[in-house]
Amino acid sequence: KKLNVCLVGLGNYSKTVLAPALRLTKYCKLNAIVTGTPSKIPKWQKKYGIPDQNVYNYETMHQIANNPDIDVIYIVVPTGLHAKYAIIAANTGKHVWCEKPMAKTEAECQNIIDACTKNKVKLSIGYRMQHEPNTRTVISWGKTRPFGAIKTLRAEIGYNVSNPKKSWRLDADLGGGTMYDLGVYALNAARYTTAEEPVSVIATQMTTRPKIFTETDETTHFTLEFLSGAIAHGKTSVGKSMHELYVDCEKGWYTLAPFSMYAGVQGKASNGTLLNKPINNQQARQMDDDALAILNDTPVMVPGEEGMKDIRIVEAIYKSAKSGALISL
Ligand code: NAD
Repeated sequence: KKLNVCLVGLGNYSKTVLAPALRLTKYCKLNAIVTGTPSKIPKWQKKYGIPDQNVYNYETMHQIANNPDIDVIYIVVPTGLHAKYAIIAANTGKHVWCEKPMAKTEAECQNIIDACTKNKVKLSIGYRMQHEPNTRTVISWGKTRPFGAIKTLRAEIGYNVSNPKKSWRLDADLGGGTMYDLGVYALNAARYTTAEEPVSVIATQMTTRPKIFTETDETTHFTLEFLSGAIAHGKTSVGKSMHELYVDCEKGWYTLAPFSMYAGVQGKASNGTLLNKPINNQQARQMDDDALAILNDTPVMVPGEEGMKDIRIVEAIYKSAKSGALISL
């Protein structure tokens, strides 16, 4: 059986990545859309064979409750709107997939989790890396520690965006900010690499283009301390290209570079082990994993609680950057 998926928000990620990836899945089919832009509708209907009765806008989206031909609603709108639409989605009684970062605040994340629990539907957060096979090896090493205790790790993700477009990504109310958008990859990597929760964080934020980044961060650096003694240094920026996870342990090291891109994630370890398992398409794997959890009624790989743990720390990072203080978590 294939699950019928409804994409909410037909922006760049839905159009260029998720919709094409849905065609590569075994257990999913794109058969519905929610959009606020009527001019997009004919093209999407034609390209993906979406019937008229499966086309909604943000005001009519709650009526999906009466549509038996939709199984999953996937929220792909600006981060500041995730909670609003994920809760509407949960209240239709359909399963919910929500893009990363889960929401702007821990309270919003909790509201999404509560709505899904109340409606007895599954909730998955779109952390595609946790489905990627080489990342999964690193995640397993967090538990087995083949190179001994982790001393320090670096997780760095950045793009050199020379001319940032005016969009929700520069708008704090809509959930803009580099720490939210890209930094969560570094933060999530620090947590899955250590398989531990940090006990404190200290952060700094800076910009070289204050006229553009008037309300959001261009660059954020953060340091997490773990109870085991491990220290994680995270960096994220839209002013500089960087894509590396490096883990220094008592008895060796390992690295993934790039660690967060859509394709080509690979790495190696100090004992010569290569982390080079192939994957056809990360997003197709993610959606198939999440579909199987629904079809088999098994736990999802990346639940809402996982997304919320990151957002709690992201909030502390912004607070620390503002005050300069170390924050206990
Ligand atoms: P985008 O700006 O290209 O698209 C956002 C869509 O939301 C647009 O279609 C826009 O019309 C719609 N929208 C609805 N209400 C809106 C409002 N009030 N203001 C602005 N837009 C509104 O953004 P995107 O790059 O497609 O990102 C969408 C989501 O996907 C974000 O949560 C982002 O973090 C996530 N994303 C995830 C990945 C990944 O690798 N997992 C990659 C890119 C984006």
